[in-house]
Amino acid sequence: MNTVLDIKNLSIEVNTKKSKYNVVEGVNLSIGKKMKYGIVGESGSGKSLTSLAIMNLLPDVLKVSKGSITLNTEKSKELTKLSKREMQKIRGNEISMIFQEPMTALDPLYTIEHQLLEVLKFHTNYSKKEMRELGLDMLNKVGISRGKEIFKSYPHQLSGGMRQRVIIAMALICQPKLLIADEPTTALDVTIQAQILDLMNDLSETHDTSILMITHDLGVILETCERVAVLYAGQVMEETTVEQLFTNPSHPYTQGLLKSIRSLGDHKNTLYSIPGNVPTPAQYENMGCRFSSRCPHAMEICKSKEPSMYTVEKDHTSKCWLHEEEGVAYG
Ligand code: SF4
Ligand code: MG
Repeated sequence: MNTVLDIKNLSIEVNTKKSKYNVVEGVNLSIGKKMKYGIVGESGSGKSLTSLAIMNLLPDVLKVSKGSITLNTEKSKELTKLSKREMQKIRGNEISMIFQEPMTALDPLYTIEHQLLEVLKFHTNYSKKEMRELGLDMLNKVGISRGKEIFKSYPHQLSGGMRQRVIIAMALICQPKLLIADEPTTALDVTIQAQILDLMNDLSETHDTSILMITHDLGVILETCERVAVLYAGQVMEETTVEQLFTNPSHPYTQGLLKSIRSLGDHKNTLYSIPGNVPTPAQYENMGCRFSSRCPHAMEICKSKEPSMYTVEKDHTSKCWLHEEEGVAYG
């Protein structure tokens, strides 16, 4: 088996007394061993929910309503079918996650040593001495040389960049096969961002860890990932290698995203942003293509019928009617 994670036809549903609809629909993606895979999308696109579904941490009003999430480590496991207890054994051990906000991921009341070793206590049988050694070694690997001093510190005594290094150390200390990083650098300033991304890249190489990078920032994807899925309004609009996405973007939404980041560096042009608003999940049904209200190429059919996912070239799919002629449809 060459993949670590396979998501097949995943839908996530909101189910309250008042309403019932899908917030994520029909998501397919496969993350190869040691691969760095990106999911890019605006807020509300469903990217964070997809990662929470993998971790089995969806809030109570949401549930996986369709599809499967298979983790292929020593044995294949269908994660949506596991009990809370079985999932606890996997979280922090086979799959780790780095959340958006480093401050909330650390407990202000405990020292760094306590929090870092807690993960090992839960998942291993190491002695206290072994755990301390592993902890210090891990801090060293994330670029914290004064480990013993940092061990005694509380989160508020560290800078944002340091806290994020500690979080990465916590996420990697059990050598997970998959690390999910949800906007891991958004709260940090640009120089620290670059350092943290470099660090994650290096660590994934040395630990054979696959990374699922969740971000709204195509620049982060370009710097860190090999493959990418572009999410919009709960659906994958385009899926391909990062190189193909940047050199030959096929979906009008991706083209708009690229145009807006390219105009950032171009002072002659005013900043481009895609006109209009993202539809809300309650509007998804019966709107045909979910990008139709904002798409400069929208045709009559786009407003009434949802497009298929078409193969536009090797390793490259796009969910758009424009590819109906040249592409091969599936799904
Ligand atoms: Fe635009 Fe139509 Fe393609 Fe949707 S299906 S992205 S509306 S051209
Ligand atoms: Mg999010």
